[in-house]
Amino acid sequence: MKLAPAKKQPLTSTDSIQIRRSAKAKRLRLAVKPGLIELVIPKGVAEAQALAFLNQHKAWAEAKLLELNGKASLIPPTENFTARSTLPWRGKEIPLLIQEAPSSRVRVAVDEAVHIALPQGLKEMRDEVALRAFYVWVSRWLRGRVALLAERHAPLCNLRQREIRVKRMKTRWGSCGPRNDININWLLALAPESVLEYVVVHELCHIAERNHSPAFWSLVAKHLPHYAVERRWLKLHGGELMRRFNL
Ligand SMILES: [Zn+2]
Repeated sequence: MKLAPAKKQPLTSTDSIQIRRSAKAKRLRLAVKPGLIELVIPKGVAEAQALAFLNQHKAWAEAKLLELNGKASLIPPTENFTARSTLPWRGKEIPLLIQEAPSSRVRVAVDEAVHIALPQGLKEMRDEVALRAFYVWVSRWLRGRVALLAERHAPLCNLRQREIRVKRMKTRWGSCGPRNDININWLLALAPESVLEYVVVHELCHIAERNHSPAFWSLVAKHLPHYAVERRWLKLHGGELMRRFNL
């Protein structure tokens, strides 16, 4: 393929994207480095093709850049997060209200609705930034909530965890480490409180029983006699919650 003359739609660098033509490169690629996305164009690749490639992979590269630049670990962008009108929160659908202000910082508040304030001009980063802010807020809230529930159930059988961590978990709702650290999936903040309580109790009981033996389940039942209802809720609705948030 011949190099197309750059007449229409010339490739230009935006703030974070730089273009590099390379005689050595074998294929089009996006290289993500701290503070910079580099589009590498091999000899003989047309601009239209390079542009199409860039558009296709830009969202990925920008999310990767956020991860490299910083702070929290990467959250896979959930499609159209900011376009939603509602979000699940503690077992109910409540309104999602997004506000944009010229110089506002990112802020989250949850009452009878989820309020997210965003700075203007985020463009295609909007979903990523909003979801990340929501995740950070929810995780902090949930950590406190899990601590309260653990406190409530600990005395009955003297089951005391070491640390509580709220995390993104792809296939599990919770886990209990060998040193009795308890990990809880952040999505449980979106499920009914009784389901969250069941998972906390389930992980606490693993401190005493490191398996799913009858002894384990009778320990769970000692704390929550009707736990089967919550277990069933997770089986019925858990998969959908994980899919909805693309985690
Ligand atoms: Zn278990």
